[in-house]
Amino acid sequence: MRSEKNIFNDLNKKTNIVKALLFRGGEQEGLFEYARKIRDEVFGKKVEVRSVIEYSNICEQACNYCGMNKYSSIKRYILSDSELLREIEKLYCNGRRVIMIQAGEISADIYFQRLYKLLKEVKAKYLDLTFICSFGNLSADKYKKLKEAGVERYLLKFETSDPKLYKKIKPSDSFENRLAHIEMLKKFGFQVSSGNITGLPGQTTDSMADDLLLMKKLDIPMGSTSVFIPNDMSNYANCPPGDILTALNSMAILRILCPNMLIPSTSSLELLIKDGQYLGLMAGANAVTLHDGTPENDEAEFVIYRKERYKPKDILIKTVARAGLECYPDLLSVTPE
Ligand code: SF4
Repeated sequence: MRSEKNIFNDLNKKTNIVKALLFRGGEQEGLFEYARKIRDEVFGKKVEVRSVIEYSNICEQACNYCGMNKYSSIKRYILSDSELLREIEKLYCNGRRVIMIQAGEISADIYFQRLYKLLKEVKAKYLDLTFICSFGNLSADKYKKLKEAGVERYLLKFETSDPKLYKKIKPSDSFENRLAHIEMLKKFGFQVSSGNITGLPGQTTDSMADDLLLMKKLDIPMGSTSVFIPNDMSNYANCPPGDILTALNSMAILRILCPNMLIPSTSSLELLIKDGQYLGLMAGANAVTLHDGTPENDEAEFVIYRKERYKPKDILIKTVARAGLECYPDLLSVTPE
């Protein structure tokens, strides 16, 4: 145990991160325990609950791992203004105070204007509602407008810190461009969330360690480390999924490297293993995502991962309680303990 503690205290060293990513058995338990201790010291027992509205699956990017890429034959949809408003109001009335609005990447101004106008109206009406927008790479002008509309947070994952691997998984973008967008979002004053995917085809443990060091370097309040799941509609449909134990270790290491970070236990974990989200909380995560804001008709068409990601609210809330934690609406607006 003493040597494990030494590693935990020096996880800024890449060699130690690589070792810790491969921990199993007792060493892994020790890693999770240490990550939980750090989380509890900073955030207490609070876990942020976010609801997601999947606004549109139209996308101009060509990510090989995603079933919504521009070449996919899925049925496309975009919520109408009244549908989006109805979903936001429903979630607000159900006590949600953090709502993530997710969509594929679309550059058309007319599409953005509609969304911007609606978000601005909602922000003026519900003062204690926090939005996380996840619309991919936008222009500087659009980021600026979203900030002016009152949007607090923006999610833009870098997926991998290896430029060559990035080009392979996202051929229509580059790692340098993605990082420039993350920096731009920070400059505009967003609370930025970013992160990686573990277990991508062609990714090494070394590269995952670099991802974690980049997360620390970015110095952002929210971050995630998810696990690759082959999507049936994507070009990676026949690739094996990422390793869940490595993904959980990655989450625990992220907690140790970035104690103040909001880290979600993602629904992707649940798809790979029963109780995956519970295990994420036990590895130091302090946020959970509820996919309960998309109209039922459209749920099946938002396929970044698989169709079965939807998890009813009561199960997730029980999962949080089972991990000895409590749901909280908006952790970044309160001072950490
Ligand atoms: S991951 Fe996002 S940007 Fe890439 S194809 Fe899917 S929806 Fe588009």
